Amino acid sequence: MGRRFEPVWAHFYAIVRSVDKPNLPNNFHVLFKQGGSKLRILVTGGAGYIGSVAVALLMEKGYQVAVLDDISTGHIESIPEGARFVRGSVLDQDNILNALEGCTAVLHFAGKSLVGESAEKPDLYQDVNVNGSKNLLVQMRSKNVKKLIFSSSAATYGEVDLNPISENSKTSPTNPYGSTKLQVEELISKECAEHGLSAVSLRYFNVAGALKTQNGWLAEKHDPETHLIPNILKSSEENPVRVFGTDWPTYDGTCIRDYVHVIDLVEAHVLALLSLVEPGHKIYNLGSGRGYSVKEVIAASDKATGKSTPYVSEVRRSGDPAILIADIAKVKRELGWAPIRGIQEMVADAYRSTEAFF
Ligand code: UDP
Repeated sequence: MGRRFEPVWAHFYAIVRSVDKPNLPNNFHVLFKQGGSKLRILVTGGAGYIGSVAVALLMEKGYQVAVLDDISTGHIESIPEGARFVRGSVLDQDNILNALEGCTAVLHFAGKSLVGESAEKPDLYQDVNVNGSKNLLVQMRSKNVKKLIFSSSAATYGEVDLNPISENSKTSPTNPYGSTKLQVEELISKECAEHGLSAVSLRYFNVAGALKTQNGWLAEKHDPETHLIPNILKSSEENPVRVFGTDWPTYDGTCIRDYVHVIDLVEAHVLALLSLVEPGHKIYNLGSGRGYSVKEVIAASDKATGKSTPYVSEVRRSGDPAILIADIAKVKRELGWAPIRGIQEMVADAYRSTEAFF
């Protein structure tokens, strides 16, 4: 029998929409339907670069947030007042259980994320990334928490023959970091099939940009810094940015990557979270669908800063593929997500955030 009445929230939402309130979040109807601020989300790694932006945006959207972070690479000052903070590791079952208290879903960012370091310390990556995620899945099951968004990586693909890269491309990671991300995706698939978890893994391409909050900027602050945009912004005549390879088979000889603004990236997590209804595991690429060479990123930075970036040509960095560009058709189609911030905004936000650091 068909339903005779629309639920009350639908009428309320229709009225709210009809008076056109510009400040409502675009997922307001879903928040309202699900109880809005009553939902508490656990963000593991919520003191890190992407995790902290997720915490800030979730709270702005009316969610309650818990953060589990051991502050090994994150920054305690990035955790806003109002978030429930558990200082601890995903390697500690009690810490996870404590952090999961009252949560209905998890955004899992905690983990080691440097490709070069992973080659030097593969055991550390296996332990934190894979065993830590295993612990999280076990404790989520014990607490009957059925929704998970996992921070995965384009490093799961490894060397590719064809760009743009779709989610159906073969996965053949070329470093321990990518391999651990792929192993976690496989664990999640198993958990979904055997225990009814509902999950999305998001394979990030190159994340950039920053978010300004009332407590200051949330931005990339790694030590040592290996990523291109922060290195460009830190460069000086004494310490020029090293361009790894100017003899690649690309239009200007430098590597091409697909950059996505951290705010757009986090918005995709919220959409993914709202899409979790049925048990199962979905995988989406998150990028912009277009690439920029290292020299083009330097040019964008010069435009943002009004200065000329000092750089030197170096030999190729080991493990770097020439071109990585995401095919984002699937996430557009299934989650209705598309990035709206371009490379110029990413570099400009990263630059504005550095004024606080350097
Ligand atoms: N890169 C560079 N100099 C740097 C850092 C990075 O030339 O100081 C290049 C790197 O070889 C790659 C691109 O910039 O082609 C993006 O590198 P990043 O480490 O930011 O991200 P990845 O693509 O390795 O995840």
